Amino acid sequence: MMRLFAFRPKPLPGEILSSWICRTAAGHNGKLHSFCHYVWPGRQMWNRDPDWSCPSDVVETMARGTGTAPEVARATHLRSLEGRLYETHRPNAKTPWIRPIGVWHRKRLNPGLQYCAACLAEDATPYFRIAWRLGFAAACLTHRTILRETCTCGAALNFHRMVAHGELCQCDACGADLRATAMEPAAPDALAFQRHLFNALERSVADLGSYGPVASVRYFVLIHQLLKMLTSRKCADRLLYRVRLSTGLDVRVDPSIARNIEVDRLPPRLRHDLLRAAAVLVDRWPEPMVELCSAARVWSSAVLADLEDPPFPLWDVARRDLNRTFYRPNEREVQAMRRSCAAREIRPSGHALRKLTGRDCSLFFR
Ligand SMILES: [Zn+2]
Ligand SMILES: [Zn+2]
Repeated sequence: MMRLFAFRPKPLPGEILSSWICRTAAGHNGKLHSFCHYVWPGRQMWNRDPDWSCPSDVVETMARGTGTAPEVARATHLRSLEGRLYETHRPNAKTPWIRPIGVWHRKRLNPGLQYCAACLAEDATPYFRIAWRLGFAAACLTHRTILRETCTCGAALNFHRMVAHGELCQCDACGADLRATAMEPAAPDALAFQRHLFNALERSVADLGSYGPVASVRYFVLIHQLLKMLTSRKCADRLLYRVRLSTGLDVRVDPSIARNIEVDRLPPRLRHDLLRAAAVLVDRWPEPMVELCSAARVWSSAVLADLEDPPFPLWDVARRDLNRTFYRPNEREVQAMRRSCAAREIRPSGHALRKLTGRDCSLFFR
């Protein structure tokens, strides 16, 4: 049975596990690897992504060692979002909305963890938030700024390498203080949409226009697909053009970046703009989606592209309103339609057949 640690900080609001471990280690003579070796002997911690892939007993040990309630400790791990943000937690798989950190030995090469300089500056003890690992978090809702994903020197965050220096918010590559990084203001509509997404995550449910409440885990699949459409080589330009035309929003997405990097790995500035466009599509679902996709000639195959198990509201709209597969009635159906028209004394025109069957039969007359 693990005894209580000598230094027992509780997780700060919204703190991510690795930040909590580092702060705890910093209070134990500041040697991260000796602390981890003592608490989890023989366990490799930092040449993996502990926030995503460490087993749950690491979290339990932190809870016991610091005297923290188990549910408070569990909330520091990305696994706590299973069933709300994504379907199943697979420690070794790429998962939508979770930004990869690209572990190489003990170094993080990808800027998967974002930050807000003002949040760090205001913290009595600077710490890193779990929300900063999420693909839909592109802005700080408190400071209304676009998040940063790297130091000004371009390096990804590696705060676990700074524990010995006692300065988690210092860049390990150049020594710059992350709290001094300049931040760019975020657009009010992007902030509102991001707030709505965090509420959906919190409540595990989201309202989707005429489709009513849907489970957040399905809602997030839908939103992720909209972002993919807005960066897709096939339809992004036409769709964004229509969004700009109908709303006046100046949402532009640099295709040289957007089309070569997965959505969750895109820089915050770009995801911020994508969220603004996605908010337009998802608002009052499904009318704007149908209207804008139809105008942009984006049909069901593009809407459902690469989706194995599309959420019903997306599948239904794609199948019913954005389906351009022409129906070709066979000979027997045509005869039945003719008889039906004759019985009702209707001339069998394309319009009449459409009214009768609900299908586009225009091809029959060609
Ligand atoms: Zn902030
Ligand atoms: Zn730096």
